[in-house]
Amino acid sequence: MKILNGAALAKKIKSVLAIEIEYLMKKNGRAPKLCIVLVGDDPASASYVKSKQKSCNEIGILCDLNILPYSTSQKELLTLIETLNNDPDVDGILVQLPLPKHIDQNAILHTIDYKKDVDGLHPMNVGLLNQSDDAIIPCTPKGILSLLRAEDIPITGKHCVVIGRSNLVGKPMAQLMLRENASVTVCHSKTRDLPYLTRQGEILIIAIGHPNLVNADMLKEGAVVVDVGINNVDGKLVGDIYNSIDLTNIEKKAAAITPVPGGVGPMTIASLMENVVEIYKRRVISD
Ligand code: NAD
Repeated sequence: MKILNGAALAKKIKSVLAIEIEYLMKKNGRAPKLCIVLVGDDPASASYVKSKQKSCNEIGILCDLNILPYSTSQKELLTLIETLNNDPDVDGILVQLPLPKHIDQNAILHTIDYKKDVDGLHPMNVGLLNQSDDAIIPCTPKGILSLLRAEDIPITGKHCVVIGRSNLVGKPMAQLMLRENASVTVCHSKTRDLPYLTRQGEILIIAIGHPNLVNADMLKEGAVVVDVGINNVDGKLVGDIYNSIDLTNIEKKAAAITPVPGGVGPMTIASLMENVVEIYKRRVISD
């Protein structure tokens, strides 16, 4: 079974971006700039934000972090988003999710200028992705596609089974695989007979957030397995299937798998960096 090394590819993508950013800076007189907004003190969110900031610093993207208290009102957050929308020096805006319960997440995501929406979650970008147009693509699905392409994994005509239907991962992933000419099945918590469907997946993308729900018996022989899950089990980071109690049998059955850590996670961050640079280029050209 082949390990699809997302960490190595992400490193390569970022080093190429660093060279491009140096060139763009000389040409346009300014570096790309990302603004991250973090509301509250959720430790997992804080750690994701730290990784994003670190990558920006490594490759020359300016990164402003706005940390707001949990008690921030929806109105205050909307005012900040409007300010960032109108700031000509800000290329990308990222609001770290989840937001506190008292804030309507969609109201915030819909207010971000879709041209600065690095996460690709604004309805305009969702619609453009559905129309196979030049959308800003959500970072995790975009990273997964880049990894599959880099590993020369054929997608056209393949049956791709996606488990999970979140706006962040499952739905855009399914849309992207459809755009790549796969036949796509989307499974979720209400799916009847999940094993029947997963056994048909030549490419199986698992984004649930529960380890050990999918085992070797649920895989098609020779499947390419993408593990999106991030779970904390007894203080250890594990995926939804990688590191599962059934890994020995999974190794015998799957053709390839993304590890956790070192698979989808680093590719998500590399894709975020790509999105910031892409938005910067679009904005500079339209100036
Ligand atoms: P989510 O909670 O929004 O969605 C989970 C999905 O799993 C839902 O659509 C639900 O229907 C489905 N599901 C739940 N139980 C199921 C079951 N028994 N059978 C079939 N489907 C079931 O989560 P999300 O934001 O899509 O994230 C999923 C996982 O991926 C989480 O572990 C998250 O931490 C991780 N994640 C990783 C990255 C990364 O960069 N590696 C990025 C985003 C999310």
